Amino acid sequence: MAVENKFPGKDLSEDDIAQKIPLVAKKSPDHKTVFTCGGIEIGGPLVPVMAGPNTVETEDLIVESAKAIKASGGHFLRGGAFKPLSFPYRSPKFFEPREDGLKWLSVAKQETGLPIVTEVMEISKIDVVAQHSDMLQIGTRNMQNYPLLTEVGKAGMPVMLKRGYGSSLRDWLMAAEYIALEHDRLGMEPQIVLCERGIVAPHTHRSTSRFMLDLQVVPAAQEVTHLPVMTDPSHATFWQPWVKPMMLASLAAGADALMLEVHPDPRNAAVDPLQASSFEEFDDMMRAMRPVASAIGRTLD
Ligand code: PEP
Repeated sequence: MAVENKFPGKDLSEDDIAQKIPLVAKKSPDHKTVFTCGGIEIGGPLVPVMAGPNTVETEDLIVESAKAIKASGGHFLRGGAFKPLSFPYRSPKFFEPREDGLKWLSVAKQETGLPIVTEVMEISKIDVVAQHSDMLQIGTRNMQNYPLLTEVGKAGMPVMLKRGYGSSLRDWLMAAEYIALEHDRLGMEPQIVLCERGIVAPHTHRSTSRFMLDLQVVPAAQEVTHLPVMTDPSHATFWQPWVKPMMLASLAAGADALMLEVHPDPRNAAVDPLQASSFEEFDDMMRAMRPVASAIGRTLD
């Protein structure tokens, strides 16, 4: 869906666009980046769905998840091997899988063919994460880690840039420009997808929900940038019953891709059990989204 910027200069000034985000700014109303990652087109009519557990807990769990996600029509497998836990202690249930988790993701890819998106948090781990993934994910907490963005850009791979949960659209686009600059230096078109994952809001409707999905940022970003824009309703809502409505709403709002957490035993997920969807819930969402996609000229297949 092409969203026209009818009032350029209102929030991002012409100078901002020319001087701060020349590479990620749209050059014309229909300017839209489409790129292929792991054989899947992003930014075109297909709305790829990136699903998987929060954490790559075991090899069996990630392979089982990948098979179920593939069977329901998911396009990418997600899962964290390096985890930005908001507190430093590991529980008996949770340990950070790190390099082992990356290897298990590769096994799941071999078994199902699903391309992998996983988070990279440290410059020193970019090479190893890149070897085991098709798309490098920058998490919300690292959106403004500029040295990391620059080095990730130098890898020349597709990047998902999550929005910092306290960041404006302007800050998000300027962060994306760091990656785009490195892609440009490599002679590539920018291969970046922007992911809205919930922002801090004064009222979130449940005490356990820390963030709120900023659906409005989907068309707002598409007014200004040619990069694909997606959402992650699992992290945004932090509450599984709200994931399906926000997936449907994101699709209807024009999201170019969707991310969600899917787990074989959600209530016993090692991390973020409240937001994880079961295989059955995922299958139900995929079925519900197909007619919505078709109504707006998009597709999930
Ligand atoms: C994740 O997707 O696993 C994650 C930690 O996301 P965020 O950076 O949005 O919290």
